[in-house]
Amino acid sequence: MRRTRALAGIGIATAALLALTGCNSGSPSNPGGGDAGDSGDKPLFEVAKDVKLDGSPTFDKIEKAGKVTIGVKEDQPGLGYLDATTGERTGFDVDIARWIAASLGYGEDKVEFKPIASANREQAIVNGDIDYYVGTYSINDKRKEQIDFAGPYFITGQGLLVAKDAPEADKLEDFNGKTVCSATGSTPIQNIKANFPEIKTQEYDLYSACVQDLIDGKVDAVTTDQAILIGYAAQYPDEVKVTGGLFTEERYGVGLTKGDDALRTHINDLFTENNDIWQGIFDKNLGDSGIKVEQPEVDAY
Ligand code: GLU
Repeated sequence: MRRTRALAGIGIATAALLALTGCNSGSPSNPGGGDAGDSGDKPLFEVAKDVKLDGSPTFDKIEKAGKVTIGVKEDQPGLGYLDATTGERTGFDVDIARWIAASLGYGEDKVEFKPIASANREQAIVNGDIDYYVGTYSINDKRKEQIDFAGPYFITGQGLLVAKDAPEADKLEDFNGKTVCSATGSTPIQNIKANFPEIKTQEYDLYSACVQDLIDGKVDAVTTDQAILIGYAAQYPDEVKVTGGLFTEERYGVGLTKGDDALRTHINDLFTENNDIWQGIFDKNLGDSGIKVEQPEVDAY
């Protein structure tokens, strides 16, 4: 396999460490500020030239199409967000997606983003509707039956969002007999259904619909990854708050076509060899969010 990369600094991958200070700041759509692919004057990464990725069916497909099609979220401030007014996409995941595209030789003008809800991710990858997926996508064995993951590139855990004036809660059992909302097909809704039978559930395709229900007093809590909930708390600081700690470990991976080892290795190498770029993307998007996390070590798979 031959690969060319514009930037390939050597860094040391460190074990993930997540701690939350509970403070939220920054603009809701883009807590870290800055434009796509840059942080002030200096670009965070450059578009690689003359890339060849032998043995990757996905790369061949991308070359044929002349563009990269990436599945993302677009209602998760700080992670994957589309500003409906400006058309600007921001967030940690979106910049990770752009970085991967750039490493394959494709700049922003040759990237197409497709919003795909949690429940539809595996199918979109299996169908070839997208070349890869970057959107709070937890690596797990069930999903690995259908697709592969590069990463992990971020670690968080299941948390809780409640109304601003609700009592603090520190365990899911606090919601026995109450209604908790989450996204269809997500790991948090699966956890509740499998392990907390006394909690009533409300499901939507999008977490933003759950947050609206919480604000409208129709559900008692929203549960999903705390990193996602922190973005909503920053978006609606007067209405909602994150409460309690982390109930699970969610390791985010890049969803890939099963068996495309060349692309998976390329992305894992990119993550491992460029910790400075990862850190720049984190600082830009989540640096002011209150999330404290180090880049996790990429798994050998
Ligand atoms: N990380 C969890 C999952 O992959 C929840 C977030 C999401 O639905 O994207 O299911």
